[in-house]
Amino acid sequence: MGIEGIYRISLPVPYAIGNVNVYLIEGETLTLVDTGTKTEKCRDALESELSKLGYAFDDIKTVVITHHHPDHCGMLDYFADDVTIVGHPRNEPWITQEPTFMKAYEGYFQTFARQMGVPVQIAAKGPDVKRTLIHSCHRPLTKEVREGDIIEALPEFVVIETPGHASTHISLYRERDGLLIGGDLLLAHVSSNPLLEPPMYDEIERPKVILQYNESLRRLAEMNISRILTGHGEDVINVKELVKERLGKQRLRAEKVYDMLQVRPMTAFEVCMKLFPTLYLKQGSLTLSETVGQLDYLEYHNRIVIDTSKEQWLFYAK
Ligand SMILES: [Zn+2]
Repeated sequence: MGIEGIYRISLPVPYAIGNVNVYLIEGETLTLVDTGTKTEKCRDALESELSKLGYAFDDIKTVVITHHHPDHCGMLDYFADDVTIVGHPRNEPWITQEPTFMKAYEGYFQTFARQMGVPVQIAAKGPDVKRTLIHSCHRPLTKEVREGDIIEALPEFVVIETPGHASTHISLYRERDGLLIGGDLLLAHVSSNPLLEPPMYDEIERPKVILQYNESLRRLAEMNISRILTGHGEDVINVKELVKERLGKQRLRAEKVYDMLQVRPMTAFEVCMKLFPTLYLKQGSLTLSETVGQLDYLEYHNRIVIDTSKEQWLFYAK
């Protein structure tokens, strides 16, 4: 693909999206950015692609994860004990599947689902994210990175925090040629939905992922990015245009929700069913995340009020 020493490897994952891109980077030592899921099919594919490039699994000395979703970190369990594992500290309870955190997450989800008006029989299935964790890992980071940090094995890149699609999300930026390894922040053909997350550690509120996401996108548009190596599909070249398009589409969807609420106040789940009349049953967490995102956006812009006095919250247009 024309970038010296960086190889895109596409791996099959057991999700609707089908494939994930991971990046092998040659340097003084070998680094992999993102891993694919903890599935044999995915591991076999990685092994075979590595061997085509003249490498074996154990040649990889550093693994960087862009965020905590299983298609990006699940395969960590298959790496040798002495591999350096790099990511944002917020990944930790997800990638170790820390039991106290997971229990709190389940409890939080049930309460939140009731507040959003999700029927009991749907909420009882639990969050989709939890079901995908069977393809994830139980392994801690060995090196935490934050905004501005340099990863030892990748001296040309600087870590930038790009929360939104996940609050754990980082990207790697190389200033000399404007190259960004961007995980799922901005994809060429699909919008990468911010997914609902529970509050973490001592946080009281859940992260408002859509606001973080828009902020991260605006930041990308202001940077001098020549190319984004993405987590799924092709590279993104037209960053500024695409950011404008994605932000515009999101605003339109928020307006649609606002119009619905002007007709009558609704629960988040009612809005969700109207926005996604068939999809809400098949992709509950995704569609609810998207809906709550639009409501968060409208609330932030002071367009709606929320009546939280009853168990099921009602959203009113102002
Ligand atoms: Zn992904």
